[in-house]
Amino acid sequence: MGRIQLHDIRKSFGAVDVLKGIDLTINEGELVVFVGPSGCGKSTLLRMIAGLDKPTSGRIEIDGVDVTPRSAADRGLAMVFQSYALYPHMTVRANMAFGLQNTKMPKPEIDARIAEAARMLEIEPLLERRPGQLSGGQRQRVAIGRAIVRRPTAFLLDEPLSNLDAELRVSMRAELSALHERLGATMIHVTHDQVEAMTMADRIVVLRAGKVEQVDTPLNLFNRPANLFVAGFIGAPG
Ligand code: ADP
Ligand code: MG
Repeated sequence: MGRIQLHDIRKSFGAVDVLKGIDLTINEGELVVFVGPSGCGKSTLLRMIAGLDKPTSGRIEIDGVDVTPRSAADRGLAMVFQSYALYPHMTVRANMAFGLQNTKMPKPEIDARIAEAARMLEIEPLLERRPGQLSGGQRQRVAIGRAIVRRPTAFLLDEPLSNLDAELRVSMRAELSALHERLGATMIHVTHDQVEAMTMADRIVVLRAGKVEQVDTPLNLFNRPANLFVAGFIGAPG
């Protein structure tokens, strides 16, 4: 579960073509990093996959099913944003439970999922606190925890570490990679940070001005960049 296929995804805002035909297959359980300069369309593409916005044309399939007409709630994916988007008046526990409470899930199951995610992310002592009482790194863990409890088919993370200080960003990279190993779920991680992409990805998708420039493993991208843009962006000799 969790294979995502994009077929000729295009998106225009008025006269501006932001995505210019994206074809891509993300395999089950893969950690794929979308990388590219600011404004190249990374967030727009992720929002199309999440179902938060509709492409102008093109088709999105999850596990072989065309989900293009489906809303975000019916796609079974979970998105984590750069700006944690936690509810300030709710406890960490309530933030994590939010979204499960409207389902038919029994409370003991909700509690068990929260306990498991909290253990995994080492935020058990924080469950009764409110977001205002947490550090940036702790808040980002809670935002990830809120995604985990939903057991999504895939995780979509839009620059989840870019608000953190440099040291924390490095340790969170390793934590996210470890989490990916444990969950075995498909993850799409968006960043404009080349080092983050190189250290975390199974495969990297290099985007430029709404198009895919190259898709490959970090090692292959480094050793055999398709063009000067990729070479320059990845930091390879070219
Ligand atoms: P990235 O995440 O790679 O920095 P975005 O996907 O956020 O880039 O944006 C790509 C381009 O699309 C930018 O030029 C941005 O201004 C434009 N854009 C994004 N969303 C909208 C919108 N809702 N309306 C108009 N233009 C938008
Ligand atoms: Mg963005």
